[in-house]
Amino acid sequence: MAASNALNTLPGLRITRVESIPLRIPFKSLHKIASGPARPSVDVLLVRLHTDQGVSGIGETQAWRRHGSSETIASLHAAIHEHFAPQLEGKSPFDIASLMRALDETIYHSYYAQAAIADAMVDIQGKVLGVPAYTLLGGKCRERVPMCGLISIKPSREETLADAQRLLAEGYRTFVIKTDENVAAAAGAVKAVREGLGDAVEIRIDANAGMRFDSALELLKSIQPYRIQAAEQLLEIWDLDGTAELARRVDIPLLADEQVSSDHDLIAVIRKRAAAAFQTKVAKNGGLWYTRRLWQIADAAGMRVCPGNHPCTSVATASVAHLATSWPAPMLDGPFAFGLTSLVDDVVVDPIAVENAAVQAPQAPGLGLILDEKRIAKYRLDR
Ligand SMILES: [Mg+2]
Repeated sequence: MAASNALNTLPGLRITRVESIPLRIPFKSLHKIASGPARPSVDVLLVRLHTDQGVSGIGETQAWRRHGSSETIASLHAAIHEHFAPQLEGKSPFDIASLMRALDETIYHSYYAQAAIADAMVDIQGKVLGVPAYTLLGGKCRERVPMCGLISIKPSREETLADAQRLLAEGYRTFVIKTDENVAAAAGAVKAVREGLGDAVEIRIDANAGMRFDSALELLKSIQPYRIQAAEQLLEIWDLDGTAELARRVDIPLLADEQVSSDHDLIAVIRKRAAAAFQTKVAKNGGLWYTRRLWQIADAAGMRVCPGNHPCTSVATASVAHLATSWPAPMLDGPFAFGLTSLVDDVVVDPIAVENAAVQAPQAPGLGLILDEKRIAKYRLDR
């Protein structure tokens, strides 16, 4: 649709219906991080906003249910249909500022539910104006968005190294090794990857908020010789003082993730100088709308930004790809597209392709994706 025609339609464009699509999509192999048992699947909630002019928009969130997320598919559904839908129906998807404020005032701190709504509104805006979401966000700053490779907790160093070598062959140059309280195993995994892949790659570790102060300090000291780019979310969310203390006692930069949901969380990390970088996720941080604000706050404070996601489909991946494409400052290689390589399937007609460890934001208007109804039918929880 040409922009001139599109603008004529704006005054009348109204959201008529909020549809949600609950899905359970299996991992190719069990996904093991520090907290909780290994997972066979991820629960995804897609939201489709319908309008009175035939244009619809999609957004994605996940019911992650670990540190920083207590949502379930049922609770996300209830938040969206019982509380958000009445705020949205009859309103323009271009009024995103007032609508996101209204949603936050309806259910405090409901970023996981708000995420899918925010991204669906941006998707509609782009479709109506005939431009990709990154154009709405400020225009193209990079052609491709590089990713890091994730190495989940393995029973042996040999398996960790084999995973790292496979990722290296696929083009990855930044490796994030998942760790837990087993300091000897975590240190061994780091040593194996550094010695096995050499000095040209970047290595980070990520404990997903699963360590205590003393074991985290011991691990950081033991891996200092291996040139670690950053150590991610070692301590539990509540231990911001402990994180700041770790940051002062070792030379490895810390990266906050689960600790940062809201802008207030990020400002607390900044004030305590508890991390040098931080990672966002579409669901955790409330979609494009709030994530961009967090990146700007972090950048203003001299922190590095890392684009992440829970394991997700092309929909939430596209959200981050558009955001990163329009981001003018440097960023760390993030795991925002991990779901594309770790889940058995996707939910769109043309899934985003991972090529040479990077993705390109879709070029079609909005998020640039079309839902694949056949694939959706296969993974629906309410079929
Ligand atoms: Mg993380």
